[in-house]
Amino acid sequence: MKRFTHERVLDNVIQIFDKDVYMLLIEGQDRAILLDTGNGVGNLKEYVDNLTDKPYEVWLTHSHFDHVDGVGWWDKAHLNAKDFDTFVAKEKEERLPRILERVFFDATIEELAPKFEGELIPYYDGDIIDLGGTTLQVVEVSGHTPGCSMFLMIEDRIMIYGDAVGRKSGLWSTSTASDLVKSLKYLQTFDDKYDRIMRLHNGLWWKKGFADEVLECAEKIVAGTDARQKLPYNLFPDEVMYAAAECNLDDPEFSRKDGKTGNVFYFLRNAK
Ligand SMILES: [Zn+2]
Repeated sequence: MKRFTHERVLDNVIQIFDKDVYMLLIEGQDRAILLDTGNGVGNLKEYVDNLTDKPYEVWLTHSHFDHVDGVGWWDKAHLNAKDFDTFVAKEKEERLPRILERVFFDATIEELAPKFEGELIPYYDGDIIDLGGTTLQVVEVSGHTPGCSMFLMIEDRIMIYGDAVGRKSGLWSTSTASDLVKSLKYLQTFDDKYDRIMRLHNGLWWKKGFADEVLECAEKIVAGTDARQKLPYNLFPDEVMYAAAECNLDDPEFSRKDGKTGNVFYFLRNAK
């Protein structure tokens, strides 16, 4: 079954659509990278191999399953060293229930990516990826996961935010609100280096500005002055999640009541 579609969004970028998440194939004159590998349903490697004739490497923005579960089609992938502890390569049988429940209701075990048994290569904040005419810089914005990373496309003046900052900016891992404050202040030092933003869920292109709203939320969590609204959000059934800014609970996307965009969803154990 056909699981992927794609669209060329820039001369050097192809957006690949998985069900609820995107992957990006970024091509320079000499080589390319595939950023993220999706939910792992369908042969992504075969799909990508048909999109480019350039040699390419696989880079992962962070360790969450919806970005890494397709990585088993390859024998090498790059991941921020700080996300190695949260990266789990699972057997197909372990992955299938989540896929059936949340993503692809008709997925079969045969079409899942094999378990990743290859080499994870660590990358670090500040690393440069030179593809020939297109250069990327790793900008680590920990919070969503300890090693969650953005990628600055230097010549194109685009920051690929990934999941690091967004409408829900989830503090679901071990990082605290103070860690997020620190990361977002670091991100502000790149403000004059980009004009546009790409995210990997809910639409590719985003306008600048909502990272500052997320920073404001994170600062309020630390100070204990945020809305601390309890959310009926069942992504993690064992733990109660809170929103820093009040949300419309009847909206499936939990938009902010005040019309702003950036928000932080967090567990109480991360509210420090
Ligand atoms: Zn994520």
